[in-house]
Amino acid sequence: MNPLNEFKARSEMLAVSKLAYERGYLCGTEGNFSIRLDEKRVLTTPRGVCKARLSVSDFLVTNLDGDLIGESLKQSKKPSTELAMHLTVYAERPDIRAVVHAHPETAVAFTVAGIALDAPILPEAVLTLGAIPVAPYATPSTSEVSESIREIVKSTDCLLLKNHGSLTVGRTIFDAFYLLETLEHYAQTLLISRQLGKVEVLSEEQVQKLFSICSIYGIKPPQSSIK
Ligand SMILES: [Zn+2]
Repeated sequence: MNPLNEFKARSEMLAVSKLAYERGYLCGTEGNFSIRLDEKRVLTTPRGVCKARLSVSDFLVTNLDGDLIGESLKQSKKPSTELAMHLTVYAERPDIRAVVHAHPETAVAFTVAGIALDAPILPEAVLTLGAIPVAPYATPSTSEVSESIREIVKSTDCLLLKNHGSLTVGRTIFDAFYLLETLEHYAQTLLISRQLGKVEVLSEEQVQKLFSICSIYGIKPPQSSIK
């Protein structure tokens, strides 16, 4: 595993923190992000701070057990109570270097309503997200959350936590953020279509054709493919 430049990782996490807050994917002090710096260290957001008000020095470094290490021990801040969920992702997905957990309202509202986000309506969402799996409800900030996502995250880069939030993962924190953005955009488009009274989905043939051109974009179809 290539060690990442910590300063660059801090700058990228700051950019994603501000973007996620400005886009309305989290409010107040909600949400948490992390970047796996190397085999032993994770950079993560501090607990209880608004993501729009962070600076690069606010991020914390922990080991893979979630304990603060190095210079971060001198800071008065603590890592997010949901860091354990991120560490579960890194344990199950060695290919993943960043995790974004947010509370995008439209996508989460679909889980509150018990309506699946699995309609093939947008080519971009079909190719990058597939049908979005939903982890069963788990009490936030407890080990229940880690267990609820452990199996699901092995086969998807984007999932929802029922009545709670989203979890997107990637090789970079921007990859994980773009999945969040596509997820919420897809949920909003589906919601509006339902409000307009009609949802015309892509045919199976159109979906298969999309998968056949994946290589043009240099991507693999999501494992949780829309049927
Ligand atoms: Zn949360």
